[in-house]
Amino acid sequence: MTTDTCLKCGSPMGRGEYSCQVCGENEMQDYQMIRNYVRTYPNSNAMQIANATGISVSKILRYIRNGSLSVVDNPSRRGRS
Ligand SMILES: [Zn+2]
Repeated sequence: MTTDTCLKCGSPMGRGEYSCQVCGENEMQDYQMIRNYVRTYPNSNAMQIANATGISVSKILRYIRNGSLSVVDNPSRRGRS
């Protein structure tokens, strides 16, 4: 089988994509919302972004891990004295 199914809704989708077209567009909107927030509040962490945007922390963390977003992963690690 070369056809994958969407991890979110189970619809068939092209191979190698994370989600189908419908979910992909939702993802894009989420991503843009996160990015706008990070642009406004560059020092926010995933939890703050989640609270502000209503997007789940795990989803935000995935964007961060992808390298799509650069936010503060763990503020306590920044060596604030
Ligand atoms: Zn889908």
